[in-house]
Amino acid sequence: MGIKELLNLSDEDVKKPMPKPSKWSRPFWENTKQGKLTLKRCKDCGHIDQPPYLYCTNCMSENSEWIEASGKGKLKAYAINVYMVPFPFWDDMPYVVAMVELAEGVTMISNIVECDHDKLKNGMDLEVVFDDVSPEFTLPKWRPVKR
Ligand SMILES: [Zn+2]
Repeated sequence: MGIKELLNLSDEDVKKPMPKPSKWSRPFWENTKQGKLTLKRCKDCGHIDQPPYLYCTNCMSENSEWIEASGKGKLKAYAINVYMVPFPFWDDMPYVVAMVELAEGVTMISNIVECDHDKLKNGMDLEVVFDDVSPEFTLPKWRPVKR
């Protein structure tokens, strides 16, 4: 039995929060929908802001471009959620929330999937996978690189 039936919750109570694209982050979400992981890079100094921002946080320039990321990264830190998460995530437990350091040098907070939890190790090689969580949104998640 799921948490909804167990606690007699409404659909609204167990609805997962979705990204709220801003003017400057919208391309990121449009691109994940197409199965592309992209990063916003400053055309003046080369700095990448992740999450994307309105202007470059390094040099304040508004002159930016979207580059396609390699989709490779390393596990930097993680937590396995086993208890006391918001209701919409209850039935997913146990699940992994992680900081992933992308090959491009920026860090992304996401989930690790397709990995036994006792195999998780900081520094392990990861690759991006795309999860269509709704008709509108596709979330980038990460799994171990298969050797
Ligand atoms: Zn810059």
